[in-house]
Amino acid sequence: MICARQVFRCFKWLERAGDRITGAAGPYFVALAVILISLGAASFFTVVQPGLPLPWLSSPPCILIAVNLFMHYYYVCTVRPGYIEEPPRYPGTSFLWASPSRPRRQLTASGVRWSPPQVEIVRAHVTRCKRCGEMRPERAHHCRICNKCVLKYDHHCPVRINQCVGLHNERHFVLFMAYLAFSTFFFSFLGYPYALDALGITYVPWTHTLPPLCFILTYVLSVVICIAITIMLLWNLWGVARGETSVEAQDHEVYRNVAKGRGETFLNSYDLGKRANLALFFNIGPNGYPLYTLFFPFRIMPYTDGRAWARREGLLRHHGVRDGEELTDEEDEES
Ligand SMILES: [Zn+2]
Ligand SMILES: [Zn+2]
Repeated sequence: MICARQVFRCFKWLERAGDRITGAAGPYFVALAVILISLGAASFFTVVQPGLPLPWLSSPPCILIAVNLFMHYYYVCTVRPGYIEEPPRYPGTSFLWASPSRPRRQLTASGVRWSPPQVEIVRAHVTRCKRCGEMRPERAHHCRICNKCVLKYDHHCPVRINQCVGLHNERHFVLFMAYLAFSTFFFSFLGYPYALDALGITYVPWTHTLPPLCFILTYVLSVVICIAITIMLLWNLWGVARGETSVEAQDHEVYRNVAKGRGETFLNSYDLGKRANLALFFNIGPNGYPLYTLFFPFRIMPYTDGRAWARREGLLRHHGVRDGEELTDEEDEES
């Protein structure tokens, strides 16, 4: 028993050490990502794009995808995820901010009727975090790398963005992955003949300013990233469509088993149906922003301030979870 506890502590120490190392290396990972994305864009726009037919038609979408890719990456790294102690946020007034479908204030009050009609906005329950001592609403979790509680915490991403993914930057995170998947797919698909040229297989002389070795390396990286990021994007979108964050997906699995053991069915009260979940996540539709905000790199506000949540009508909490059964952060249990 003592041995098992020591092994557990050893693993926890290793995990913390890993967190510290990846946390410290975060800025270097971001710099590397910027260099690689820029190299990919340079390879595409100097080699592949000039050879596309109908340049007046094919250039604008290519440029739009590249602009979206860089801007959403910039946003996801710089827009703070929503730390508990921060004051409420309001939409900006610069040209980067989109206008809502119809002027309205961000919803913070409870008991507000929503469209679709079986949804209502309910003020979140509040608990105290045992790590930082702050009062936090449901869906907030403590990030042990930032050492703060984050609204609608999803995960801390040291490798790509060097900060948490939470309420205010989760949309940019998913859109960045989507534009990265699009751009690497088009580069891999359209750049294939040029990769053969660069390898010398086709006997076509390489006349581009970019060195052929640089193009081949960028091309191979693009194919690998396309496969990896598409899988991650689909996994993330699946979570969004189910109305749960990465943390909640794990918690809900536990709740599902507990409820099943009692012969009950677990129902996620944040799950409003796939279409409504996606619309709320991207905050588009009659209650939010127009659809075009998905195709241009605009800033928009989330549908909530993180202290009230859209729930299925009549469900003030998850069905099948009883008082005292709610899981807290694993750090709480450990300390
Ligand atoms: Zn905390
Ligand atoms: Zn964090």
